[in-house]
Amino acid sequence: MNDIRSLRVDGDRLWASLMAMAEIGATPGGGSNRLALTYLDRDARDLLGGWCREAGAEVSVDGIGNMFARRAGTDASLPPVMAGSHLDTQPMGGRFDGVLGVLAALEVLRTLQDAGVATRHPVELVNWTNEEGARFAPAMIGSGAFAGLQDARLAMGLKDTEGLRFGDELDKIGYRGPDAIGGRPVHAYFELHIEQGPILEDEGLDIGVVTHAQGVRWLDVTLIGAAGHTGTTPMDRRRDALVAAAAMIEAVAEVGRRNEPGVATVGQLRIEPGSRNVIPGRAAFSVDLRHPVAATLAAMTEELKAAIQESAKAAGVEAKITDVLYFAPTAFDKSCVGAVRTAAESCGYRHRDIVSGGGHDACNIARIAPAAMVFCPCIDGVSHTEAENIRPEWATAGANVLLHAILAKAGVSG
Ligand SMILES: [Zn+2]
Repeated sequence: MNDIRSLRVDGDRLWASLMAMAEIGATPGGGSNRLALTYLDRDARDLLGGWCREAGAEVSVDGIGNMFARRAGTDASLPPVMAGSHLDTQPMGGRFDGVLGVLAALEVLRTLQDAGVATRHPVELVNWTNEEGARFAPAMIGSGAFAGLQDARLAMGLKDTEGLRFGDELDKIGYRGPDAIGGRPVHAYFELHIEQGPILEDEGLDIGVVTHAQGVRWLDVTLIGAAGHTGTTPMDRRRDALVAAAAMIEAVAEVGRRNEPGVATVGQLRIEPGSRNVIPGRAAFSVDLRHPVAATLAAMTEELKAAIQESAKAAGVEAKITDVLYFAPTAFDKSCVGAVRTAAESCGYRHRDIVSGGGHDACNIARIAPAAMVFCPCIDGVSHTEAENIRPEWATAGANVLLHAILAKAGVSG
């Protein structure tokens, strides 16, 4: 190798692997349907495992089905630099969400093997089990268990909508491995993922250097007013739960607008009794608040709770607010983020810093090891549907950045 900085992945080979993987569970509209722990997930895992062995890596599986493919380093005492994502998809999902991160890590292993590069730290590909949470909720179970955030024994008892147990399904596809789940050091973790938003494509950029991932707060709000006859109840005697909800929904959007880059959404609304000529006596809605800074997310939550109680009082209804979920924001490791930025620059790619709007396995791993993410654009920001698409050159750019971020952390010997 004359100069390691000039090393590049084989973009055509990466694209061919992405297309071959997409055939497992291919949908009529050009997407992939590969739910976690189905036989299709098994086929995808088998294909990946074979490719990893051909690339000279040693494949292992832990007790929750996370797959690892390790390429040895020159110093066996050093912990690995890991890179990966997930091969499971949404029911009518895309070909790239998760898959790109796993197969780009494979392309890194292949590139290192072809060029005969020796790294000091081992380089380890990982395919996390059940990232999507589409079949077994919650999401990100495999990486959560690896990071000690998810109880693996509890996970084994989770049931899908047909009542099939996670543990039984894991056994059925033959991927309950002998390795302990987590509890081992990771030198650094990198995850390449499609942005799943429109920013990079809109700005004509190749690479997003992910500095943070948003925190998430979910609330349920239930309003209790009074049902009554729409024709006989004068306006000043009403306790209309839906009129109260309308003001609150506007308050939710306002909290989002006032706290950029925060976002705030009401995604579900139920009215009772739901009759044309009955005043709504009850209303219930969901709230989804997101912000990359924990203190701001907390302030948004408090601001909104106060606004809801105020609107409730004005409308003469009772408001009950329940906390449903909290996922803390992630600040990715500065040194790993720096390695991603430097890699993008040294490869000559146009890049910007960006915040991840969604949750990823990297958010779990960031709790136990230095971690960072690389984003590449996706067309129209579309994801979690069959229409999800990227350009081959974006995949290549992402994989090259992944390669050089990994090399920076793994160290090149000799
Ligand atoms: Zn994903």
